[in-house]
Amino acid sequence: MAKRDKPCPTVDSWDSKTLPISHHRKELVQAVKANPFLVVTGETGSGKTTQLPQYIHKAGFWKDGMIGVTQPRRVAAITVAHRVSQEMGCSLGREVGYQVRFDDCSSQDTAIKYMTDGCLLREILADPSLTKYSVVILDEAHERSLNTDILLGLLKRRVLQPRGGSSGRSTPLKVVVMSATLETDKLSAFLGDCPVFTIPGRTFPVVERFCGLIGPKDTDSTVYVKEAVKVTLDLHTSEPAGDILVFLTGQSEIEKACDMLYEKAEAIDYRYDVQDHSVDGLLILPLYGSMPTEQQRQIFQPPPKGVRKCVVATNIAATSLTIDGIRYIVDSGFVKQLNHNSRVGLDILEVVPISKSEAQQRAGRAGRTSAGKCFRIYSKEFWEKCMPEYTVPEIQRTSLTAVILTLKCLGVHDVIRFPYLDRPEERFILAALKQLYQCDAIDRRGHVTKLGQLMVEFPLPPGLTRALLKAASLGCEDLLLPVAAMLSVENIFIRPGQQEKQQDAERKHRQLIAEAGSCNDFTVLLSIFEKCRASDTPSAWCRDHWIHWRALKSAFSVETQLREILLRLKQQRDFPVEKFDGSRSELFRRCLCAGYFANVARRSVGRTFCTMDGHGSVVHIHPSSALFDQEAQLDWIIFHDVLVTSRVYVRTVCPIRYEWVKDLLPKLHEVDVYELSSVAREEVTDEEVAKWEAKEAAKRQAEGSVEDA
Ligand code: ADP
Ligand code: MG
Repeated sequence: MAKRDKPCPTVDSWDSKTLPISHHRKELVQAVKANPFLVVTGETGSGKTTQLPQYIHKAGFWKDGMIGVTQPRRVAAITVAHRVSQEMGCSLGREVGYQVRFDDCSSQDTAIKYMTDGCLLREILADPSLTKYSVVILDEAHERSLNTDILLGLLKRRVLQPRGGSSGRSTPLKVVVMSATLETDKLSAFLGDCPVFTIPGRTFPVVERFCGLIGPKDTDSTVYVKEAVKVTLDLHTSEPAGDILVFLTGQSEIEKACDMLYEKAEAIDYRYDVQDHSVDGLLILPLYGSMPTEQQRQIFQPPPKGVRKCVVATNIAATSLTIDGIRYIVDSGFVKQLNHNSRVGLDILEVVPISKSEAQQRAGRAGRTSAGKCFRIYSKEFWEKCMPEYTVPEIQRTSLTAVILTLKCLGVHDVIRFPYLDRPEERFILAALKQLYQCDAIDRRGHVTKLGQLMVEFPLPPGLTRALLKAASLGCEDLLLPVAAMLSVENIFIRPGQQEKQQDAERKHRQLIAEAGSCNDFTVLLSIFEKCRASDTPSAWCRDHWIHWRALKSAFSVETQLREILLRLKQQRDFPVEKFDGSRSELFRRCLCAGYFANVARRSVGRTFCTMDGHGSVVHIHPSSALFDQEAQLDWIIFHDVLVTSRVYVRTVCPIRYEWVKDLLPKLHEVDVYELSSVAREEVTDEEVAKWEAKEAAKRQAEGSVEDA
């Protein structure tokens, strides 16, 4: 019988004394004491994340400040904090806490804080010497997340070359970098040849098999989901006991796979005989980033006797979280990754083949406690032709705008010669500078403006922050705060699988769009937020309208937090104030234009639009938009983000008038990236800037006279 979402008995067979790391406790603590930097490596599951912070804590480091442990992933920070608080027998948020964007579960008493790398980066802004911490542990460094890479560079500068003056610290900060792979020589060399501590551990052989169901041309998610389900069911019926871990790409694919597995496993278990009679059922559990934490905890519990656990997960299960008892891996060969798309000039979340090293990491999860098997659903040809050797670090493939602003606010003016573990391409740094300049966050000399200093306070993408600050200066932040919050949470619309329900959901959603008044996706978000908040029973309201209550609940909390940040900033004497006397709808859209003017598109042939940022990409309005099917009535639009499938789609769209962006658009083409590069190096003098400005003015005048003629 297939089981799903039923609580398992709370058996905890785990024993921290048997973990490989436990034999090295003394030497580890000693090494942390003796070195400003330490690299720790060991197989995943050896106990680095959960144990080392506890060892350091018990060795008394907490007396000099907190022990901060960063994770690239939000779920990992939360889950591990839960686990460690249990192990230490305290309630979460007391001695052991966590902090992720928009969710702080720590207190005065917190001695070990698990946090996302992004949160620590924000803390450095407020407190560059990290005076609250005695030890900072950068975990999962092999993941090479953008924020961890930046933290590595910052901490290297601070710890290895402290520049005079008092840092406000009584004892020097200790930095431990933990990595699952053996690529540690590079890390050690980067950190001034610091020692590397390797936790020895054995792994068991894993038999790897190519099932050949996915070839070089299969990139459609429906294909790999279906094939992964098929392979899982085959192995469930043919292989002896042992749990299964299926790697897929994201929430919707995982939910789809779980639904299919649930239906089919039920039929298999009853109708056919599973060969191994000790296995009579399949317990199907999804695991992805935005899942509720109660549900996540089930993943770690052993299944009831005679039941095989099958976890369907994103890449989070590759190294961040270790699930005991896994003997079989089903690898889809794909991952959802944020990449800078030079065709569109924007960062796009796309499904791409994983690298060979990633595939090996995934396979290794089957051999932790006994010999295992890995079923790769793709072909050998796919492996050879489509999968790169290594994953490109995030810093070399995504937009650096927010990070460069943070660096500038930290006084790192020369962002090109900053110590990067792997240098991003110069054109990416220049693109970020250009975008910051366009948003008025930096001036022509690359110095952070007042606006830039306000912008860096918000944990939001720069365009959205700019729009929000524009609204605040016009006194209409109530329009933008809910929108910013709604864009910061997961998708709010429920799209049920069953056809009848789907029709009802579509009808309700259309009704919500109609009730929003103006046809504009941002207004729809605002209207849903306000309606739900005004309702007496918001959760019931959501259920009735096929809206995710959990997402709305987070949006309410995010809105409050953003409002608090804004209130604090508004108390500053020089907070900008502007006036406007147009309609509310125009005011709203003008604020959006201030933030999103780089995302402007003009209607081109048929239903297509053409972007105005110099790329001139052809884009389509996404079917989920309130403006879909109304392209004929539109002329100029702005959009929040882009989705690339067979076409380039823009999502969350708003119609605008050309006059509103007319004066802003020249800014998109005004800066010369080569000149900005000299700005980046701070070698320009006032004189040079004046010369440059004169040149620009002359250029504009020349262009003007051409147009006049
Ligand atoms: P590493 O960081 O070296 O990969 P971890 O410290 O994450 O290792 O995990 C060590 C062990 O702790 C795992 O093998 C697992 O048995 C156990 N463990 C970790 N997190 C949890 C959890 N949330 N629930 C139950 N057991 C856990
Ligand atoms: Mg770990």
